[in-house]
Amino acid sequence: MKAKDIAELLDEPACEHNKKEKSGCAKPKPGASAGGCAFDGAQIALLPIADVAHIVHGPIACAGSSWDNRGTRSSGPELYRLGFTTDLTEQDIIMGRSEKRLLHAIKQAVDEHNPAAVFIYNTCVPALIGDDVDAVCKTASQRWGVPVVPVDAAGFYGTKNLGNRIAGEAMVKYVVGTAEPLPLPEGSQRPGITVYDVNLIGEYNIAGELWHVLPLLDELGIRVLCTLSGDTRFHEVQSMHRAAVNMMVCSKAMVNVARKLESAYGTPWFEGSFYGIEDTSQALRDFARLIGDPDLSRRTEALIEREEAKINAALQPWRERLIGKRALLYTGGVKSWSVISALQDLGMTVVATGTKKSTEEDKSRIRDLMGDEAVMIEDGNPRALLKIVADYKADILIAGGRNMYTALKARLPFLDINQEREFGYAGYTGMLELARQFALTLESPVWADVRRPAPWMENRAIGNPLNKEAYYD
Ligand code: SF4
Repeated sequence: MKAKDIAELLDEPACEHNKKEKSGCAKPKPGASAGGCAFDGAQIALLPIADVAHIVHGPIACAGSSWDNRGTRSSGPELYRLGFTTDLTEQDIIMGRSEKRLLHAIKQAVDEHNPAAVFIYNTCVPALIGDDVDAVCKTASQRWGVPVVPVDAAGFYGTKNLGNRIAGEAMVKYVVGTAEPLPLPEGSQRPGITVYDVNLIGEYNIAGELWHVLPLLDELGIRVLCTLSGDTRFHEVQSMHRAAVNMMVCSKAMVNVARKLESAYGTPWFEGSFYGIEDTSQALRDFARLIGDPDLSRRTEALIEREEAKINAALQPWRERLIGKRALLYTGGVKSWSVISALQDLGMTVVATGTKKSTEEDKSRIRDLMGDEAVMIEDGNPRALLKIVADYKADILIAGGRNMYTALKARLPFLDINQEREFGYAGYTGMLELARQFALTLESPVWADVRRPAPWMENRAIGNPLNKEAYYD
């Protein structure tokens, strides 16, 4: 990828902050890829496309550290869960045979797995030695009659966020618009209800949480043509251009897809989230508003009223247990603000939130929810996180799996909110699961036990993890 193309992706005109300040995204600093390189971001964004063979062109370590690291679920094909790599070695590089290896890898994937398409992720080493991945993909596609899509996302191009954008760019450039949507199944249309097609961009179906939302859309007569990319098939990505509305679910990381579909096909889009009662209702309203059918709007309001009444009644006993609890949220992207609203719905207070992987847009949403004084954590090393826990008297750390041991060693309740989690929190029913998980975590009897000083250390004040002096003793 040329430097000019990378600069273009970083300078996304649809970002609010860019409209105002023309600042573009923050330039990556040395070490930025430690939280996930551009390749990692690109692969994680597309890996949930379930019937595609995803081949990582590079040394084994690139695939090893990124494969299957998101708990995304498929309702059908499981091909996406197989890790494919060209496993380049120094001999391949010295002997100049890495392009050949790639061609063989594509053939093997096609012969053995009959995929709907093959995606090739370029990584640092082949990008540095100048492999012509585009040409190999073209040759393979012509030879074996299967779409082979290059995703040029070498890790050194930049951060994980940039990788998400590169992935979106590859879909718009090579895939979207190459097929028409399937007709509605016979007898599936209910009398008097017009069916509208929409796309969810940046929805990954973590722990199957998309399935909490689909029945609601289905009831309203909204068909999800494609979710880029949770529980998706290649054909669905090809037909994305026919949607009436696009919803940007995950922050602005793939905003380039929404913007390009708007300029090429005139599809309106909005940004929303399915975390929290208020945000879920708002997302449903936004669909109806942009589709512009008065009957749909009326039915949407009726559904929201019914569902909100139902979930509020179900949440009442949990709210009583959670009200006033203080949480430190350390995550990134859409979750850095959308989970705040879910926690506020439960009567909890968010004392600070992490913004290391958030876009400028995410930060402005955080300010809207938490006020201008919102504490944003850029550097979440364990010591800094624990200091904030102590300073702001947080009851729980909500973060990704890699922070679990920071919390547990400090004897602090912890809830995994990132992609590796086991539970889906989207939609109205997801809120009930979230509340249940909070209560189970916070009220676990284990905390009282582990915080009690060991009998032989009774005279030392190390029992309370919120006791700052004892922590850093
Ligand atoms: S693409 Fe580059 S930065 Fe990313 S894992 Fe591979 S070698 Fe590391």
